[in-house]
Amino acid sequence: MDLQALRSKYKAERDRRIRPDGATQYQRTTGEFGYYATDPYTPRTEREPLTDRVEALVIGGGFGGLLTGARLRQAGVGSIRMLDEAGDFGGTWYWNRYPGIHCDIESTVYMPLLEEVGYVPKWRYAPGEEIRQHAVAIAEHFGLYDDAVFQTRVTELRWDDEAAEWTVRTDRGDVMRARWVIVSSGTLTQPKLPGIPGIESFRGHTFHTSRWDSGYDLAGKRVGVVGTGATGIQVIPQIAGTAEHLYVFQRTPTSVDVRDNRPIDPEWAANLEPGWQQKRMDNFLAVVTGAETDQDMVGDGWTSTPALQRTFLVGTGSGLSDEELEEADAVKMDEIRARVATVVDDPATAELLKPWYRYMCKRPGFSDLYLQTFNRPDVTLVDTADVGGITRMTENEVVVGETAYPVDCVIFATGFEVGVSGVVSGTLPVYGRDGLPLLHHWAKGPRTLHGFYSHGFPNLFHLGSMQNAASVNFVHVLQEQAGHIAAVVAEAGKRGVQRVEPTAEAEESWVATIRETAPDTFTFQAECTPGYYNNEGRPRPVSHSYGPGPVVFHELLRRWRTEGGMDEVLWNA
Ligand code: NDP
Repeated sequence: MDLQALRSKYKAERDRRIRPDGATQYQRTTGEFGYYATDPYTPRTEREPLTDRVEALVIGGGFGGLLTGARLRQAGVGSIRMLDEAGDFGGTWYWNRYPGIHCDIESTVYMPLLEEVGYVPKWRYAPGEEIRQHAVAIAEHFGLYDDAVFQTRVTELRWDDEAAEWTVRTDRGDVMRARWVIVSSGTLTQPKLPGIPGIESFRGHTFHTSRWDSGYDLAGKRVGVVGTGATGIQVIPQIAGTAEHLYVFQRTPTSVDVRDNRPIDPEWAANLEPGWQQKRMDNFLAVVTGAETDQDMVGDGWTSTPALQRTFLVGTGSGLSDEELEEADAVKMDEIRARVATVVDDPATAELLKPWYRYMCKRPGFSDLYLQTFNRPDVTLVDTADVGGITRMTENEVVVGETAYPVDCVIFATGFEVGVSGVVSGTLPVYGRDGLPLLHHWAKGPRTLHGFYSHGFPNLFHLGSMQNAASVNFVHVLQEQAGHIAAVVAEAGKRGVQRVEPTAEAEESWVATIRETAPDTFTFQAECTPGYYNNEGRPRPVSHSYGPGPVVFHELLRRWRTEGGMDEVLWNA
């Protein structure tokens, strides 16, 4: 394999996509573009502001929040208020309801609490609606609707040391009180649009995939879909055949590997032993992160590429030299490019659909329908790479270079603003003991113990990958986080204390651990084609996750809980 030639090809393909405006090329879905982020699923209801008190308040009704709510309930916490901007539970599965939506992680390891709720998924890769309904089932099972408030955004968290409670203000005028606050507001939540010149002048119908307009009939319409990421490759085959003509505006092709979705065998499901799901989740996590295991229970496109994934997620420990890793990557990408050539009839179109970058430069995709779509006469692939994306929009056209495509409807499958919680971005101000703003405490970077909590900010927990762990199956990471937080809250109950926070020394020591172990993914990402993974071609030099990976981290947390770690926390009455 001529790696030098491949490197040059990857570099040339990257260079023609790099834009000087980097991450600022996008249009926020606020102000006159607020329509693109408006909830089309639940009509807004008015209510009186709340001024009550709950034991725990969980910000976010996705799986992170639901898992935390469930574990707090199991730990005996009385009143739990779940709060979300959406109209119901589900998080990303509430918002994303486009035709064809599925989770590309196997349902048996992705959908949490299956055994607790008594459910076995119907499909190996579950449709979004089944996952959304499972989120609702978790909420019902654990009584999480009881004090829930929806369509509400938290605008401020302020610690009241005298009462040992948080005051929680919202955009509904609420001034609620809560002993414990848990922030699980997720990543990739705010839809974004490309900053296409003239986008505001388009007079046809238009919406974002995460706010699907099911009232609009695509039949007989000329439809343009912008974006061919993980969302695009799922929705495009569903629109093809309904629309009179479908134009797919592509800037970078996704790598599209075999999907092989099929119903879950009822006989297999009937013979599952108690504890089966945790075992399967642990096995998947071990395999994809390269931990010791001699079995691969899931056996799919994720579990067959662990070394390649580690270039992005952990960065070390693949057991391969850089050159061996690059070769393995090239073999995989060659296989994916060869599949395009086999499936797509028109050689010119096939050429445009071939991904020229390393495997984890973009989120890998899986589909047995997507590439086939381009063999249809009513589907046109419009490649925009040479002109850096769509050139402009007019009242009724999408223009690429000099060519105008008249359309009735434009659907943006253009992704989301990159994932930091409002706490980190500053849109949700947090004031701790003595009114100290959290972002002052974090002025030189985040400071936490295990990613969960900070000194001076009692009883406040964060979920997410920052100074914690990450995995392609992020729900597994969230489940561990939820269990850990609930264990600390339960310990406070046992000790009869009201205030819990890490000591300054424990926090400092964890910050140092992260500094020492955080993976170096910078070099890899700097050579990648632009996208949200590498901040549009300008990767951030510092990574904030725990280098040895989630399996080691979860074991570290377990030992911390049982072998005296709890003494690193201040327990104050
Ligand atoms: P992405 O950000 O991954 O994709 C956005 C797409 O829009 C890209 O193809 C991008 O091209 C394209 N685009 C942006 N600007 C322009 C422009 N000016 N002209 C033309 N094209 C443009 O968003 P997705 O919604 O696809 O996915 C986001 C994430 O959501 C995924 O990475 C994944 O984490 C998650 N997801 C998970 C799924 C699952 O099954 N688990 C399913 C769907 C999503 P370019 O690449 O060139 O920037």
